[in-house]
Amino acid sequence: MPKRFAEVNESYCVSCGACMSVCPKGAIKIVKGCYAFVDRNFCVGCGICARTCPAGAIEVKAHEVA
Ligand code: SF4
Ligand code: SF4
Repeated sequence: MPKRFAEVNESYCVSCGACMSVCPKGAIKIVKGCYAFVDRNFCVGCGICARTCPAGAIEVKAHEVA
């Protein structure tokens, strides 16, 4: 079954933390102060982070999961 997850384009991310603040699942952390990291164990693919990101760095994509 495909599942939807947020993916961060590290080249675009400016580490503002906006996505982390709005994620209802607490799935996003800022890694080493340099980019946002999405924990797929918590992400439900709602897309709120992608709509919030001022840099357009997040896309929600479908992935096949075992
Ligand atoms: S898609 Fe939703 S649950 Fe997943 S990281 Fe973004 S805001 Fe959080
Ligand atoms: S909102 Fe966008 S630019 Fe800001 S930390 Fe998240 S992914 Fe990076």
